[in-house]
Amino acid sequence: MKGFIHAGIIILLLMVVVPLAIGLAGPGKKTGGMDVPENKITVPKSVKVWIDEKSKPADVDFEEYVACVVASEMPADFGEEALKAQAVAARTYAMAKILKYEESLPENHPAAPLCNTTHCQVYKTEKELISCHQEGWGQEGWEKIKKACKETKGELLYYDGNLVMQPLFFSSSGGQTENSEDVFSGAYPYLVSVSSPYEEGASHLNEQKTFTLDEMRKKLKAAYGEKDTGQLRTDNIKILSRTAGGRVDRMQIGDATFKGTEVRTALSLSSALFSIAFEESGKDAEITFTSSGSGHGVGMSQYGARGMAREGKTYKEILTHYYTGTVVY
Ligand SMILES: [Zn+2]
Repeated sequence: MKGFIHAGIIILLLMVVVPLAIGLAGPGKKTGGMDVPENKITVPKSVKVWIDEKSKPADVDFEEYVACVVASEMPADFGEEALKAQAVAARTYAMAKILKYEESLPENHPAAPLCNTTHCQVYKTEKELISCHQEGWGQEGWEKIKKACKETKGELLYYDGNLVMQPLFFSSSGGQTENSEDVFSGAYPYLVSVSSPYEEGASHLNEQKTFTLDEMRKKLKAAYGEKDTGQLRTDNIKILSRTAGGRVDRMQIGDATFKGTEVRTALSLSSALFSIAFEESGKDAEITFTSSGSGHGVGMSQYGARGMAREGKTYKEILTHYYTGTVVY
C-alpha cells in the first residue's frame, strides 16, 4: 500500500517549473562529437533549502540534498541506472538554480535558491522519508538511492559546453516526449520530442474521464473565465491540432479555442495526450477523455528511465536519450 502511495506521489511531485533563463557560458572542446566543458562546475559542499512548512531555510549537505530529492521523486525499485539518471538530473537542476539565483533569490523563497516543494524539486529529510515508507525501506530502498547518488557524485549534465539549465522530468509520457516550446514558452535544443518506448506498466495508461458537456463548460469557465464557450454541442467540440509528441495542441470547444494544456488543467487530466469520444445520453451529451501518460511530457520520463534501465541501458544512455545532445561530466 505504501509503495502504491509512493507511485502516486511522483505524479503529484511532477515539476511544474517555469523555465529558467540560461545564464552560463563558456567554451567547450569537442570530444567524440560531444562538447565536454573545459571548466567542469564543482558542486558546493552545502546548499540552503527553503523549508516551506517552517518558513525558513535549512543548510543541507549538497549530496545529501540530491539523495533526498531522488528518494522523494522516484521509487527506489525503479532500477539502479534509472536512479542514477534521476540523481544527475536532480543535481543539475539544483546547480542550475544556485547559479541562476547567485545575484538575487526567487520571490517565492527569498532566503534560499531552492525550496522543498514541487515549485523546485521535492525534498524530504531522511527522517521524513523513512517515516513515510514501509518498514525496512531505510535498509533497502534508501541504501540503493544513496549508492546511486554516490556513484554519480558531482556529475552534471552539459550541453554545448554549458550546464543544462532545464533538466526537466515528469512521470510517464505515453510513448513520446514533447518539444519544450510546445508545452512551455521557451525552446531548448536538448528538450526536443523523442520516443519513450519502454513504458510498459506505467501508471495512467488509457485513463478515462467522462463529463457531461455542461460539467465541462463549468469547469472550463471556472479555470478560464475570460473565454466564453457558449452552448456546447457534440458538433462544436473538436481537436484542431496536435504537437510533435502527439499531445493536443489546440482544441475548439464551442465558441472558444483552448490549448491542450489548458484543457488538461481545467479538467484535471493526467496528460494532454488524449482523444475524445461522445455519447448522447438523456438530455445532456457526455464527453469521454482517454489520456495516456502523466505530467507535462518535457525532458526525462521517469517510467521511461525505469524501462530503459530494465533493458540494460546505462544512466548516461538514459540521460542522453531524453536530453538530446547532452553529456554527463
Ligand atoms: Zn522553489
